Amino acid sequence: MGFLSKLNQLFSTLQALKAEITESKSLFDDLKSRVSTPSLPVSNPTLSSWQDDPLQIPMQPLPTTAEIIIIGSGISGASIAYTLLKKCPSSKIVMLEAREICSGATGRNGGHIKCSAYMEYSTLKARFGNSAKQLLRYQKRHMPLLLGLIEELKIEAEAREVETVDVFTDEKAWGEAKQMVKEFKTDLPEEAEDIIVYDGVDGCQEYHVNPAHCCGIITYKAAALSPHKFIISLYAMLLQNPNFTISPGTAVTEITSADKYTVFTGRGKICASSIVHATDGFAATLIPGLEGKIFPVRGHVTTQSGCGFDASRSWCIHHKRGFDYISQRPGGELVVGGGMIQSPGRGVDEFGIWRDDGICYSIRAYLGGLVETVFETQTKTERAWSGCMGFAPDLLPFVGRLESSMTGRRSDGEWISAGFQGEGMVLAWLSGVAVGLMIAGDQEYQDEAGIPGGRVQDWLPRELICSKERVDRLSVSDLAALL
Ligand SMILES: Cc1cc2nc3c(=O)[nH]c(=O)nc-3n(C[C@H](O)[C@H](O)[C@H](O)COP(=O)(O)OP(=O)(O)OC[C@H]3O[C@@H](n4cnc5c(N)ncnc54)[C@H](O)[C@@H]3O)c2cc1C
Repeated sequence: MGFLSKLNQLFSTLQALKAEITESKSLFDDLKSRVSTPSLPVSNPTLSSWQDDPLQIPMQPLPTTAEIIIIGSGISGASIAYTLLKKCPSSKIVMLEAREICSGATGRNGGHIKCSAYMEYSTLKARFGNSAKQLLRYQKRHMPLLLGLIEELKIEAEAREVETVDVFTDEKAWGEAKQMVKEFKTDLPEEAEDIIVYDGVDGCQEYHVNPAHCCGIITYKAAALSPHKFIISLYAMLLQNPNFTISPGTAVTEITSADKYTVFTGRGKICASSIVHATDGFAATLIPGLEGKIFPVRGHVTTQSGCGFDASRSWCIHHKRGFDYISQRPGGELVVGGGMIQSPGRGVDEFGIWRDDGICYSIRAYLGGLVETVFETQTKTERAWSGCMGFAPDLLPFVGRLESSMTGRRSDGEWISAGFQGEGMVLAWLSGVAVGLMIAGDQEYQDEAGIPGGRVQDWLPRELICSKERVDRLSVSDLAALL
């Protein structure tokens, strides 16, 4: 999926949100209350298929001091730790994770590394004008960077380049998509070379799509992987440095500051000079100034067996309202996610849900029948799970230093990399790298696996910076206003 995909691939959900917000004050009040009531991750989440092979590490007593504490062990925390251990290998870094390692959104996502460049660009251009190209390239850079890193580190994570297939089941959405491709090809011809458009049912046979529901198909390059395997394999490598420790089952409940920061957990307290929040949708639990400015939206994924497609392809099915996504693991299992608009509240009731221990009945039932409808082939749902994605009302991540007006604490050593809008695989790695490099010191860096060369300010779009001015402007009703 992609950057402003809540306006693009998820745009129908937000259109529903706009309609609901406009129609019903009580619905909006409920939504506002939900998003402004932060909570810790629940202790008994649904289990994704990726998590069948967890990273087991011996339980150690919690250290009493560290130089840097990273809270959260998803892809964002991983890239911060990786960058810091590359640039300052002798720093004592402690990662605190409320549950199992990588059990948040990263360990339960769809595994798609997909930037729908033509859709993203259209929305970014309308919102940010000249900055659109930099914002788009930031996302696009993730795929080669992650695949290169995985290859260099020899990590077995099912990582593969795929030909991704966008199928449109609605004439209006199809017409808009073709317009977006046209605009993209005019403005960025060199970035659009991989895009192929199949009008009507022209591409159905090649891509196994039932022509009865197909208005058109657009294909281009993307990638897929097991996000959990990637991240836990990376941690297994990073843990070879004795200065790095991870403490699972250690929820942070409070942070105070005096000379240093003191972080309180259910397993004791620990002092440090710097704290990094890599907690995505849960960031506001520990950052009071972000209450209502970052919040979770619950998503669903299933694995399904019984049909063999092609592991070198992935699909997104775009409907009049909402979208779904499918990829095939090399072993044969299909990963099928989406369906948000099918919830009883047309997706709005999935906003502000701080728990991933349940499944929405109607979304689960819908995803179970999706493959048969789109591809005319039967599957059996093997596993269904949910997960919390961090959203900000302006649909951009928060990256950088946190000011004391947001934390109520000293401002020299608190940082954030969070709010990836369900697009972490094309946003979170570089956001974590940026924060890691900012902590390591503002200077010109050499290119190395997973870390771009140059200065951070040269490649990090300034729109992502977590400034007070940006945060003050944000309100949940912006979600509707953006449409
Ligand atoms: C169902 C679903 C499907 C998705 N599909 C895709 C996809 O196909 N492609 C894509 O690009 N993106 C997808 N995403 C989004 C992507 O997974 C996220 O954007 C990304 O994983 C966020 O990474 P993160 O490291 O910021 O957060 P997370 O992986 O959520 O990590 C944050 C961690 O912080 C921990 N934590 C929170 N609070 C505390 C605390 N107080 N103390 C200690 N620990 C704490 C949590 O337990 C969690 O492990 C999907 C997300 C979901 C939920």
